[in-house]
Amino acid sequence: MANDSIIKALKTKSKSLNLSSTKIIYLPEALEKLTWILVLKLNNNFLSSLPSEFMRLQKLTELNLGNNVLEEVPSVLKHLCCLNKLYLYGNQISYLSAEVLEGLPNLVLLNLNHNKIKVIPSEIKSLCRLQSISITDNHLEQIPAELGLMKSLTEINFTNNKLTQIPQQLCDLSQLRRLYLARNKLTEIPEGVLGWKNLKILDVAGNRLSVFPFDFQFLTLDELFFEGNSLVPFSLMESIQEKEILTLKELSARLILQESTNILSAVYRSLPMYPELQDMLSHWSQCALCSQPFLTTWLECVQFINTRKHMGMKSSQSVPVRVVLCSYDCFNRDDHQYYGLVRLN
Ligand SMILES: [Zn+2]
Repeated sequence: MANDSIIKALKTKSKSLNLSSTKIIYLPEALEKLTWILVLKLNNNFLSSLPSEFMRLQKLTELNLGNNVLEEVPSVLKHLCCLNKLYLYGNQISYLSAEVLEGLPNLVLLNLNHNKIKVIPSEIKSLCRLQSISITDNHLEQIPAELGLMKSLTEINFTNNKLTQIPQQLCDLSQLRRLYLARNKLTEIPEGVLGWKNLKILDVAGNRLSVFPFDFQFLTLDELFFEGNSLVPFSLMESIQEKEILTLKELSARLILQESTNILSAVYRSLPMYPELQDMLSHWSQCALCSQPFLTTWLECVQFINTRKHMGMKSSQSVPVRVVLCSYDCFNRDDHQYYGLVRLN
């Protein structure tokens, strides 16, 4: 059956060939004669490797190897530099070779769903034209920071893996429109989400999130999925009216941070002479109410945002976003709707 299709394609000079579900175990030799072919479907077969002669199909732009029995991405693919869509879903791939990735600079779509991949190598950044990456139902434990360098990405789907963190660098993907991270082990979404200027769909359902970052409310999402998280495993705290006692380090830090913005002050002039101090102070935050800076001591609060009222989405859901305050003096003001948090566990 496969051979008949190849003979037909040879006669008609067809640009595409569909050999899916033809029960092939090895690639028929005649296939390498189709040097003009652009699209090749080999999905739903029993292929465990590709022969080196496969590199003769130099014009190939789309290759579907889904649902075979490959244990690695075939190394011959590194010679097919015209490839822009590559489907490898439903195999037994546990390892992504950096060498193969580096040979695919024109790849736009990569689908590795339903495999056994634990690690995405940092060389993934060589796929500089990649727009869509999908590695659902694998064993990923980490997203490499280098993914943040892949500025063409518009869609990332890492649903159902073992991810615990989203690297800060991912927020640099300003073209990203769809981000699917459901059913992982994420405990937080990084600050800096405003970098996702074009994000329309965010799916973080089934993770371990307790709160969203403050800037989250300024995203222009169309759809948000977050059911099945541990949102507010906190109990809302009765205001404890005691005044905090700040350490000497915190008191000095607040004083220096305040003075450092005054160009007439001695602190402003002398700070450049103390790079270590500058580095330490660079981790400062700002009170959501009085805007005063602080470094190591603050009050952790939440504000409940309505997705329809505050974010302009069609659905109406309540989302807690993280807010930090400098002191009980600010917390006890009656002109805000922030709730103090105390962890139950
Ligand atoms: Zn304050």
